[in-house]
Amino acid sequence: MKAWRFYAFGDMRLDDIELGPCPPDHVLVEPMVVQPSVTEAQLAFGIPTLAYENIKSRLETDAPIQLFGHEFCARILEVGSEVSGYAPGDRVAARAKLPCGDCSMCNSERGTDCRTGPIIGFQLPGCFAERALLPAISLVKVDDRISDSEAATLQSLSDSIAGVETAQIRPGDSVAIFGQGSMGIESMQAARACGAGQLITVDVRDEACQLSLELGADRAINARKDDPVEAIRALTGGEGTDVVFECAGGSVKQGLAGDQALKQAMHAVRSGGKLVGVSWFGAPLQLDVDLLRERSLRYLFPDISSQAHLEYTVQLVATGRISMKPTIRHILEGIDKVPEAFEITANKGKYQAINPAQVVLAQ
Ligand SMILES: [Zn+2]
Repeated sequence: MKAWRFYAFGDMRLDDIELGPCPPDHVLVEPMVVQPSVTEAQLAFGIPTLAYENIKSRLETDAPIQLFGHEFCARILEVGSEVSGYAPGDRVAARAKLPCGDCSMCNSERGTDCRTGPIIGFQLPGCFAERALLPAISLVKVDDRISDSEAATLQSLSDSIAGVETAQIRPGDSVAIFGQGSMGIESMQAARACGAGQLITVDVRDEACQLSLELGADRAINARKDDPVEAIRALTGGEGTDVVFECAGGSVKQGLAGDQALKQAMHAVRSGGKLVGVSWFGAPLQLDVDLLRERSLRYLFPDISSQAHLEYTVQLVATGRISMKPTIRHILEGIDKVPEAFEITANKGKYQAINPAQVVLAQ
């Protein structure tokens, strides 16, 4: 079968490789639609972010290696002898990060806090290939009401649902979201689905502001035109919102906000409120911790999504309570187009993309 393998940063090739037999607790799938995550797209070009050092050293010692491809919709072709609940023909998506099943976290039913289990597309081969073998424990069935294209966004969306649960949003809480890229729009819609009150979004692109209004934001602030901290305070009686999600930070070269949005977010949340850090920065930051302390701010980081989050995400999309379709602007046809999807996703600003670019591998 054909599979994309990395020989170095920026050097991916479509190789013919052998796939082994299906292990008893796995399924064999045919990927139908797959998209690089933003992190994967940045790593593909050697841009420092999450897991950069790990991927760098593996490329230096083990290349060529199959990397990435945990955001997908796939069709099951074969199920392992110990797998129940799935059958050939089922469409599935998966959570990326799996529990190891063996550590004290996993043994106390806190598997989402386990950091030793494998990640699909990193320690396990992902879906930038004609076939993939996936652990059945990672899977969720895709509801018939969800298209292949939207199904490929479920994994990412389930992380945003986990982030909203981390924030413990209460009914009516006011929420601001900095950045209306894919994670920002997901977080906004997830917050709305989970009972948030006033929803205020911030971006520097008119088009992204417009889209967030169409998908349920009450107000959208273009930070190039208005000071977002002043605007958010004006909309919340001078206090700031109960919760702020910071989804805009990261490499300025890739069109992200550096640490500017985080600094603004710290002033846009009310005293005693919660700041949820969704962005990856790829480098250490200087942070005014005394400001956090003085204002009793809770600076939280999202939990990794669980099976329950993924199943709930399927329900939210199947019933139309969350819509990802308007965020998908680039759908490419055929396995040859995978590098183009990485290029677009690593440079979303340049290509006016919101969701990562998708590739249709099969129908
Ligand atoms: Zn574990």
